[in-house]
Amino acid sequence: MLPVGILKQLQAIVGREHVLTSPEELVCYSYDSTPVVSTPDAVVVPGSTQEISEIMRLANRERVPVVPRGSGTDLSGGTVPLRKGIVLSTARLNKILEIDEQNLTATLQPAVITGQLQAAVERLGLFYPPDPSSLGVSTIGGNVAEGAGGARCLKYGTTKDYVLGLEVVLASGDLIRTGGKTVKNVSGYNLTQLFVGSEGTLGVVTEVTVRLIPLPEAKQTLLAVFGDLDDAARTVSAIIAAKIVPTTLELIDGTSIKKIEAYRSLGYPLDAEAVLLIEVDGSEVEVQRQTGRVEDIVRANGARELRVARNGDEADHLWLGRRVSFAALARSKPTAVTEDVTVPRAKVPALVRRLKELARKYDLDVAIMGHAGDGNMHPLVMTDFRDKDEMARMNKFFDETFRITLELGGTLTGEHGIGLLKAPYMKMQFGKEGVEAMRAIKLALDPNNILNPGKIIPDGSDETEPR
Ligand SMILES: Cc1cc2nc3c(=O)[nH]c(=O)nc-3n(C[C@H](O)[C@H](O)[C@H](O)COP(=O)(O)OP(=O)(O)OC[C@H]3O[C@@H](n4cnc5c(N)ncnc54)[C@H](O)[C@@H]3O)c2cc1C
Repeated sequence: MLPVGILKQLQAIVGREHVLTSPEELVCYSYDSTPVVSTPDAVVVPGSTQEISEIMRLANRERVPVVPRGSGTDLSGGTVPLRKGIVLSTARLNKILEIDEQNLTATLQPAVITGQLQAAVERLGLFYPPDPSSLGVSTIGGNVAEGAGGARCLKYGTTKDYVLGLEVVLASGDLIRTGGKTVKNVSGYNLTQLFVGSEGTLGVVTEVTVRLIPLPEAKQTLLAVFGDLDDAARTVSAIIAAKIVPTTLELIDGTSIKKIEAYRSLGYPLDAEAVLLIEVDGSEVEVQRQTGRVEDIVRANGARELRVARNGDEADHLWLGRRVSFAALARSKPTAVTEDVTVPRAKVPALVRRLKELARKYDLDVAIMGHAGDGNMHPLVMTDFRDKDEMARMNKFFDETFRITLELGGTLTGEHGIGLLKAPYMKMQFGKEGVEAMRAIKLALDPNNILNPGKIIPDGSDETEPR
């Protein structure tokens, strides 16, 4: 519980109605998309940057933890208020402030929904490519804080490649601006990119300026069906090695296909061990050329069937399976846990093989899918948090998955962030010195450790062990 005096000061800053304290309200801010739960002491919903600055000054003075929150779709436990304190919801700051067609930029408040930004710019013939599958609900502030990716990032890059400038309220309450509308900018340290992916631990993002590009003229969607998962994984590497960069190159394994079909009956082949969902875009000529080359490679690598969308509706239909895949898998058991380990692209076949072996070794129901063209795979374990034995086996599965990924030259996370769940593995990837370098940055910007404490860097406890 926060002292009454602090609650009164919060009410004075944002208005009584924007400070939530009832148990029914607080529980709605106690979770994200992981099984981790912790209820905050209070939720504040500020209506301006000035109010956020005043909240941070108060919290810093009183040493109260603050967890910024967009839509709470985080997949690494990063949005959960582990140390209680205040959840700072950006929900009221949801305006597109400007779409600048002269400079090809958009300036946004943090709670603008990613999909709404995309729809708004596409009406003007412009394109904001980063497309997390959660784009119908996730916020641009959450995307920046996570460095979110998505299917199209293979060709177009992730959120970090589009953020040009930020307005950020620091832990002290001070307001800074980084970057701007210019395409080139090498003045001083690159603070913009320091805040991208900082998961709410270094500052509260209150305004974002992103780069836009022209909307591609044409695109083509294909679904390649494989009787063998290894063939599908090898095809991913073969396409990249042939110097073709499709817009998307998604792998969905047989387990996922069965769950998707049970959920939506989309006509995905039930007896397939894997499908690859491939999209190419560009000028009409370029799309035709790339489609032909992809068809050749896919067939040469053992695809037993290739479906080519004849129009936008058919393309949407092919995509629907991928879009509903998480929901289809998550509904099959009480608990679904997914990670997003990422390896150099040529190592995708090796990673997929090792994941299959691990699933057998630990006797787990595991689906394998993901942005295979990026080397970014999402092994998803369907389990039940009440089954202690299975949860222990799942933890061992992920523990080994992380070790194997690093052995293959990969990284713990390609887009979901470290958050809480992967913080204990940071030393495994970066060594003690690497983690200490990050801790030094954290302490320089947030000396009292009030911003999203315990995330990314396990605070004060190098002893924290992997799960
Ligand atoms: C079904 C599903 C599919 C998904 N698909 C993808 C995918 O394809 N690619 C991908 O990258 N992710 C994906 N995600 C994960 C998630 O949607 C992204 O991480 C997204 O960027 C989170 O946005 P959010 O608004 O929900 O942020 P939240 O969950 O509210 O917050 C995420 C983190 O950002 C911090 N934060 C939020 N807003 C701010 C702010 N204004 N300033 C500072 N810090 C802030 C929070 O403290 C937290 O640490 C998926 C999630 C689900 C549930």
